[in-house]
Amino acid sequence: MEIKKIGVLGAGTMGNGIALLGAQIGCDVVMRDIEDAYVERGLKGIDKFLSKGVEKGKLDAAEKDAVLGRIKGTTDMAEMAGVDIVIEAVIEDLDLKKQVFKDLDDLCGPEVILASNTSSMSLTEIAAVTKRPDKVCGMHFFNPAPIMRLVEIIRAYGTSDETVAATTELAKKMGKITVEVKKDSPGFIVNRIMIPHMIEAIKIVEEGIASIPDVDTAVKNGLNYPMGPFELMDLTGVDICYFVAEYLYKELNKELKWASPNLLKTMIRAAKLGRKTGAGWYDYS
Ligand code: NAD
Repeated sequence: MEIKKIGVLGAGTMGNGIALLGAQIGCDVVMRDIEDAYVERGLKGIDKFLSKGVEKGKLDAAEKDAVLGRIKGTTDMAEMAGVDIVIEAVIEDLDLKKQVFKDLDDLCGPEVILASNTSSMSLTEIAAVTKRPDKVCGMHFFNPAPIMRLVEIIRAYGTSDETVAATTELAKKMGKITVEVKKDSPGFIVNRIMIPHMIEAIKIVEEGIASIPDVDTAVKNGLNYPMGPFELMDLTGVDICYFVAEYLYKELNKELKWASPNLLKTMIRAAKLGRKTGAGWYDYS
């Protein structure tokens, strides 16, 4: 199956990175968000990323313009009608994802693959709202999408081998390393390993055992990780860590190892009191 036109739902952190990857391999891309301002912000992010590439001599100005020229930003969901695959990257909210998959199922031709970039949620539950569960799967890119090499390809209960093959081929064309998650299980591979280590790091700070910078320094130099857990949460969004932890806690039978520490909940509540959502540990600690 040849993919020539890609629909990306959401122009946020992940959506604009995925749109860029699609345009870089020569596909036409339609990137949709709910407000013009969000579409503009996404397009600006792509422009900025490409401009840095030009400055560093990785591509020339004409190549940059060609890539940008293949990306159309829109707020009109109907634009998804003509694409070969949709990669959904709206916020991590299961009800919203189910709603957009239902809308996409009505809009897109029956042969179109509908993939989700969810960080943790059940692809089977998302697929169940469509009439094409064989064409629904997870394509989990990592942040920042243009740079991070891995894509987890996640099989939902009814995902066909053809869908796994087509999405794997697309990710490889984008220069990614793929792994197949054979069973639809919360958090897949990476987040199932990453979230408990973030929770433990927060507990260490909460218990007064060490400071945030010292936990990061310890992990970077003791485990040779490129970033500490707090730096990583600040990059990906503290709110995302919380949403994923809460989902894993609920789905994995409320085992205590998945329970959010009070300090994490406080960070999220503080965001509701006027702090920017996802405000970082280093900004406010
Ligand atoms: P984000 O908040 O930066 O962007 C989400 C965008 O979706 C927003 O611009 C929002 O306006 C838009 N949106 C909401 N409803 C929409 C709709 N109906 N149609 C189109 N757009 C809509 O979030 P993000 O960090 O890009 O995360 C997106 C998804 O990717 C989530 O499922 C998240 O769990 C996953 N993910 C995030 C990361 C990360 O590090 N940020 C990494 C991997 C996967």
